[in-house]
Amino acid sequence: MRRAQDIVGNRLLKALAPRERHLLSKNLEAVMLEKGTVLFEPGEDVISICFPGPGTVASLILNLRDGATAEAALIGQEGAVGGIISGGDKPAFTRGVVQIGGPAMRLATDVLEKAKLRSPTLRDHFARYADCLLAQTLQSVACNAIHDLDARLARWLLTLQDRIGGDDLHLTQEFIAEMLGVQRTYVTRVIGSLEKTGAIRRSRGTLTVVNRGKLERQACECYAFLRRHFERVLPGVYPDARAPTKNA
Ligand SMILES: [Zn+2]
Repeated sequence: MRRAQDIVGNRLLKALAPRERHLLSKNLEAVMLEKGTVLFEPGEDVISICFPGPGTVASLILNLRDGATAEAALIGQEGAVGGIISGGDKPAFTRGVVQIGGPAMRLATDVLEKAKLRSPTLRDHFARYADCLLAQTLQSVACNAIHDLDARLARWLLTLQDRIGGDDLHLTQEFIAEMLGVQRTYVTRVIGSLEKTGAIRRSRGTLTVVNRGKLERQACECYAFLRRHFERVLPGVYPDARAPTKNA
C-alpha cells in the first residue's frame, strides 16, 4: 500500500486543514479502481467511502425495472462516493460504479463518523460537500425535465472534462446514452451536431474537446449554476479544466 499522504490527489481531502486531515490520514487507504467496479448496490450498507483521485470518475446510477438506467451524479476528484449525505453506514439508494478507472483513497464510513464527532470543522466540510452533491442531483432533475439533449450532452461533457482534466474523453456512444438515459440514436445525432459547431471531434471510442469555449456556449445554464454553487460553498475544491484546451 502506498502511503496515504503521498497521493491525496482528491481535492475534497486536500482542502481539509492539516489538523482535520490528520484525523483521517492514517485510515485512508490508497487503492486503484478498475473501470466497471461496483462500489455499492442499492440497499447495501455503505461501509466505505471512495475519494477519487485525478482522472478517476464514478457515477451514482439509478436502475429501473425495465432495464433502463440513468445517472444521478458524476463524481471525481472534487468529491466522494458513498456515506457522505446519509451520514455513515446506511443503505445505499443508488448503485455506485467506477466509470473511469484510476487511483482513489478509501476510508471506512465509521472512521469518518467518529472524526466528525471530534471536529465540527470537519463535519462542516463534509456537510458542505453533501450540499454540493445534493445541488448536483437537484439540478439534474430540472435539466432532464426541461433542457434539450444537445445542451444536456454539452453540460455532461464539460462536467466529465472537469473531473478528468484532459481534452480526450474515452467514451462510447452507448455509454453516453446510458448515462443520459436516452436512446443511442439520439446521442449519435447530437454528437454530430456538436461536432459541426467545432466544439468536439470524434474518433473511434474517443471524443476530443477541441474548443472548450464553444462547448460551454452549447451547454445549458445548469453547468455554470452548479460550478458557481460549488465554488461558493467549497472554495478551491472544484477542478478548473478550462485551461487545457488550446483553442477556447
Ligand atoms: Zn440543464
